[in-house]
Amino acid sequence: MKKINKNKTTEIASPKGMRDLMNEDYYRFQGFFEKAQEVAVYYGFKPLDTPIMEKEEVFTGSIGSGTDIVDKEMYTLKTKGGDRLALRPEHTAALVRAYIEHGMQNMPQPVMFYQYGPIFRHDKPQRGRYRQFWQFDLDVLGNEKSIMDALVIKAGISILEEAGATNLTIDINSIGDKECRNGYLRELTSYYRKHISNLPAIDRERLKTNPLRILDSKEEKTKEINEGAPDAISSLCTSCKKHFKEVLEYLEEMDIDYNINKNLVRGLSYYTRTVFEIIEQEGGEDGAPLALAGGGRYDYLARHIGSKKDIPAVGISIGVDRIIASTWYKKLTPRILKKPKIYFIQLGPEAKLKSLNIIEILRKIHIPIAQSLSKDSLGSQLAIAEKLSIPYAIIFGLKEAIDNSVIVRNMENRSQETVKLVNLPEYLKELK
Ligand code: AMP
Repeated sequence: MKKINKNKTTEIASPKGMRDLMNEDYYRFQGFFEKAQEVAVYYGFKPLDTPIMEKEEVFTGSIGSGTDIVDKEMYTLKTKGGDRLALRPEHTAALVRAYIEHGMQNMPQPVMFYQYGPIFRHDKPQRGRYRQFWQFDLDVLGNEKSIMDALVIKAGISILEEAGATNLTIDINSIGDKECRNGYLRELTSYYRKHISNLPAIDRERLKTNPLRILDSKEEKTKEINEGAPDAISSLCTSCKKHFKEVLEYLEEMDIDYNINKNLVRGLSYYTRTVFEIIEQEGGEDGAPLALAGGGRYDYLARHIGSKKDIPAVGISIGVDRIIASTWYKKLTPRILKKPKIYFIQLGPEAKLKSLNIIEILRKIHIPIAQSLSKDSLGSQLAIAEKLSIPYAIIFGLKEAIDNSVIVRNMENRSQETVKLVNLPEYLKELK
């Protein structure tokens, strides 16, 4: 016999770190996505949606081993056909895969895309950190110029500001290109080797796999060692230096506050040259800074996905969950959500039978309504209309059903008028 589970409520629950979006929360997300898209379109970005899953190597090849995402956080599965797929832990690699697959290098460059949707990382859930969360990305592909870096940063800031953010700064760094990065990595590795006896085990491991990651280590001991670590900017070659200087000049021209953070390398290994984060000062727990968005240039990523040529590109990922949860969020509401102008009331079976026809007339002339078709009495329906402060009610009873008319009631002064259905659209247009 099957055992009865006394603790059923804990069993019927969404997976850890993942949640249902509903009610006000749902509208806040949708409102944000509408606003973000609007800003993106003004800047010339076009929409694109990639599948929620990709072949695993799209991410492993590009994000790289030695990163938390690839080593620990990917949701992977083997299909019945034997393919290894992964739920996307970010948008960028999938976007580059799409660019290559559709031969977008043959289009006028650069191409600019925005993309948004759920992202999956098997991370430790905590405040502001989920296993399914939403990102809104902006990317410019096919151009290496510094103004493109500035463009994605500016568009990202505009989106955050339109959502209500005020206290924003940029943490920015340049980690060089293939000319200068290797020299820097050698310098960095030799520095850490000198301090190896004080490095925690996790960072000793990173020294073998991905020494850049030691720079953003959360370990206290490593943080101390990092104070004296060589910075990437001093190792930049002439062209990277020029590129970085130009990005900063654009930011200054737009009065964007930035802070050069020599330890900023970001968790993904595909970045080249510019890396940045948009930070809300005091937005985190106990007034700590909170990262709302991050991004950078990824000129070599395409090769890791199979392109024969480099595709210079730059992008930003905005973390939507943290925006919606913040105190400054403007509570943007989606455009489809309209304040009801009419409360529809029906009385008796004959009227109920024809109710949906009347509601369809109202929908076709774009009059937002509310109704409680499940209720029968006039009193209970009118009470709801009053409670919702809806300016007008339409009352549809037996007589009206026979006459093909409705009663339109002004809820404020309680005046009523009978209107034939054929005249209803005209009549309602006249109401304010
Ligand atoms: P990343 O792709 O890690 O650079 O993240 C970009 C932005 O996404 C961050 O600045 C956060 O705002 C947001 N983000 C990253 N990871 C999570 C998570 N696990 N839960 C919620 N938001 C996240």
